[in-house]
Amino acid sequence: MRIPLIAGNWKMNLGIAEGVVLSQNICNNFDKSWLDRVDVLVCPPAIGLRPCLTVFEFERLKVQVGAQNVHWQPQGAYTGELSCDMLASAGCTAVIVGHSERRNLFGETNEQVNLKLRAVLAQGMTPIACVGESLAVREGHDPVEYVCAQVDAALAGIDEAEAARCVIAYEPVWAIGTGRTATPEQAQQMCAAIRALVADRFGSDVAEQVRVLYGGSVNVGNIDALIVQPDIDGALVGGASLEASSFLALIKACA
Ligand code: PEP
Repeated sequence: MRIPLIAGNWKMNLGIAEGVVLSQNICNNFDKSWLDRVDVLVCPPAIGLRPCLTVFEFERLKVQVGAQNVHWQPQGAYTGELSCDMLASAGCTAVIVGHSERRNLFGETNEQVNLKLRAVLAQGMTPIACVGESLAVREGHDPVEYVCAQVDAALAGIDEAEAARCVIAYEPVWAIGTGRTATPEQAQQMCAAIRALVADRFGSDVAEQVRVLYGGSVNVGNIDALIVQPDIDGALVGGASLEASSFLALIKACA
């Protein structure tokens, strides 16, 4: 059985003080028994990683912190970048790679997403590889083929044990931050296709272990219908992770 994962992507929101307040508010109303049934991760901006984790550690709450991006090189002349080792030293256990905002606004390619994913695995952290089609692809092409090609590229060159440690987040670009969610059926169809691809490349045992998340305007009103889908193992959440009440409600719905 796969344990669901609720991951909050704060994007470029909340400075250190605001992030600490949100972390404390999450702790204040958290039912610790939820963590028997659901994993919880928050991904603040990089400067907030260590301060937010300190709040969770102080409260003895096993909420993990993850980064929103990473560079694949271990060190060097890469102004503005952070390495896997640096993120791990801040207490990070997971890293989002290939978010559509990184792909579309910063030109991140499938090859770079693969380099990042492999570096994250080599560091012993969990990569959350984001894939998803634009509206143009959904309406004019074969979205399943497009997304599976992204998954294939992201997972290139890794072995079965490494593949089993990956999380894949299906996030249709047209649903991110738009208030427009994929229907549970659309999300399930794509997540099932992703799992089938993983089974084909790495075997059915690995496919049974890999967590496939849905992301795209997930909120308290739609989480119940999404999480009951057999191939949806949780959610990557943007807007609704910025308020403790809505983030907690999503965790509770999956616990
Ligand atoms: C995201 O940032 O990955 C995301 C899904 O955002 P939102 O939930 O706001 O659509």
